[in-house]
Amino acid sequence: MTLRWRLTLLVSVILTLTFIALGALVYYLMGRYLTGAIDTSLALRAREVVNSIKVESNFLRQQRITLPDVNVFAAPDIFLQVVDSEGFIVVKSSNLGRQSLPVDPRTLTQAHLGIDFFSTESIDNYALRIYNIPLLLKGQTVGILQVARLLGPVKKTLSDLRRILIFLGLVAVLLATFLGYILARAALRPIERLTQVAARIGEGKDLAQRVPYQGPMDEIGRLAATFNAMLGRLQRAYTRLEEAYSAQRRFVADASHELRTPLTTIRGNVDLLRKMKGTDTAVREEALADIASEAERMSRLVNDLLTLARADAGLEIKREPMEISVLLQEVARQAPLLGEATFTARGIENLAGQQVMGNRDYLKQLFFILLDNAFKYTPANGKVELSATVDQQKIIIKVQDTGPGIAPEDLRHIFERFYRADANRSSGGTGLGLAIARWIVEQHQGEIKVESRVGEGTTFIVILPLLKTV
Ligand code: ADP
Repeated sequence: MTLRWRLTLLVSVILTLTFIALGALVYYLMGRYLTGAIDTSLALRAREVVNSIKVESNFLRQQRITLPDVNVFAAPDIFLQVVDSEGFIVVKSSNLGRQSLPVDPRTLTQAHLGIDFFSTESIDNYALRIYNIPLLLKGQTVGILQVARLLGPVKKTLSDLRRILIFLGLVAVLLATFLGYILARAALRPIERLTQVAARIGEGKDLAQRVPYQGPMDEIGRLAATFNAMLGRLQRAYTRLEEAYSAQRRFVADASHELRTPLTTIRGNVDLLRKMKGTDTAVREEALADIASEAERMSRLVNDLLTLARADAGLEIKREPMEISVLLQEVARQAPLLGEATFTARGIENLAGQQVMGNRDYLKQLFFILLDNAFKYTPANGKVELSATVDQQKIIIKVQDTGPGIAPEDLRHIFERFYRADANRSSGGTGLGLAIARWIVEQHQGEIKVESRVGEGTTFIVILPLLKTV
């Protein structure tokens, strides 16, 4: 059963019950009112009769009562009867004909106690309301006056009322059910639309859809807004996921491709060595050297891939306070071994005592990636410089070279994995160095920038936050 029908049913059940309760109350009050009116009229009539009863004394000082003509007090629907203390009829109004008003033992008992009371009786299927009033003489009950009235009209009124109430009740319930259904449908329509949109999204995966809702910010409005906000978040997350997934796929494809090249060279050289029957040592040495250098390249590549895989897996570099100048001096000492260009270090001594939150091994790897590139791409007569300065709470380390520079269109991509500027394809690099460098800098809450001019040289700038000295 749908919510709409449940709501409708609830409304009609509540309404039906309310109507039954109300109808019953009206019916009961009306019954009481009508009977009350009859009782009042009976009591009035009885009072009139009693008032016209005469008490006379004869010469023996015996008293006796004289009854008036009861027919004077009767009306088409009012009957009178007087019985003596034994219950025998003394006189009755002529409209009773051959009938008489019932006198049961209870009536006599009550009368002897001097109590007047009302009772409802029926004669020949006619319901009668009777007022019994004892007639007293010197405190003795000498008879009973009974005034009665037919209850037929009251009964008829009440049964008419009952029919009207039932009819109106049915109409009201039907109307309420109909209105309830329409109201429930109107109230639930936005939810219906929400369901439709959700279903469409489920089928078509179109996360750009939104629930169209124009209305007040009530429960439904908030539901629609929440739903739309959730869709927005889902859409963003989905886009990010798709980007990450395609990046991952690209990475795997590139990695397999990069690994295949050295393997092909190694296999080619091994085949050559196998086929070589003679002992041409020069060729053999060359083949072995090729194998060795490709194997080394491969192990570098695998190492780099491993580092990036760890980075992707969310590895966080462990850091501790360390003196940066000590590390830079060590790097500067080893740097000249990386190539033939002239190397200078500048400003490292100014950093003495300055501390950063860092990881010695990873920071060393970072500077070697930059210096290695600088030496790799700078001719022997060029220059490579490592310089350091402190600026407010940051330290700025620059690796500058006088190499060929990087074209502006390449500059945007050099931090991407496997990206190598075409001109440097033959450099033997993996294209992963700068991607790793960027990850290391990010892990140190730092920044890495590059400035380059084709034909003049390149400068890589690493900015690291200084540890606040207390
Ligand atoms: P690779 O192993 O190829 O050096 P990197 O990620 O370290 O990979 O560098 C990406 C590319 O950026 C290089 O292939 C090169 O084209 C360019 N590049 C990096 N450093 C320099 C530099 N100092 N001078 C000129 N080009 C550079």
